[in-house]
Amino acid sequence: MDCKTALALLEPYLDNELDRADARELEAHVDTCADCAAALTRLGDLRQSLRDQTLRHTAPPELRKRIRAAATGELPSGAALSPRSASRWTMPPWSRLAAACVLAFGAGGVSVHLWNSGQSPAAVQTQVARDLFASHWRALAAATPVDVVSSDRHTVKPWFAGKVAESPLVRDFAEQGFALVGGRLDYVGDERLAVLVYRHGQHVIDVFVAPGAGSALMVEVAEQHGYSLTPVRLGDQPAVIVSDMDREERSRFAQIVRSAQ
Ligand SMILES: [Zn+2]
Repeated sequence: MDCKTALALLEPYLDNELDRADARELEAHVDTCADCAAALTRLGDLRQSLRDQTLRHTAPPELRKRIRAAATGELPSGAALSPRSASRWTMPPWSRLAAACVLAFGAGGVSVHLWNSGQSPAAVQTQVARDLFASHWRALAAATPVDVVSSDRHTVKPWFAGKVAESPLVRDFAEQGFALVGGRLDYVGDERLAVLVYRHGQHVIDVFVAPGAGSALMVEVAEQHGYSLTPVRLGDQPAVIVSDMDREERSRFAQIVRSAQ
């Protein structure tokens, strides 16, 4: 991919509008191209500042009037505001994500390749971690981070049936301060995983659950820019917690997940 193509794809990438192949190609380019990495960072920062409440100003009445007029087609189209410019944005720029992954992983991950190719274990770990972070951030940037919204485990568990090889253990930990919000499906490598979504105060927590007891998520503890990956077991399935909780909250939640029955 050349820089011209990459730059044209940054916006749709951030809007999660690229198919997986294009997204991968763009990520590969951004990993090796400082210019495009910088452009992605700028774009990410710009979007973040757009949704930062503290930077918002109350529109003067005259502007409101003009916007309303534009919306109803009474002004030339060039005067209309793009709704995209105000879209939600919480995903840190790719360049930081890439740095996080490269820094965080050494050797020593476990078995089954969710990422099937001839890559080295370290490369697989990097890619798995990247997928986990990217999935978490994309979910945060979406209107809602869940596909099935429910605090009732009896709703969430059956929802996964037939969608993943093995439905995960679903528990609500609201009493311990971690409320079940719902679930969604996401991809790590070519594997579709169940994701359980919890909320703790302002934190949205994803628990990615490997497809079966015999499978593994090749990933180690990682922490970068306030986000972290914590491998755990949920019931008899390997899982990874992704969140921006601090170390103490994180280990408390990991403990709760591990002891769930
Ligand atoms: Zn480039």
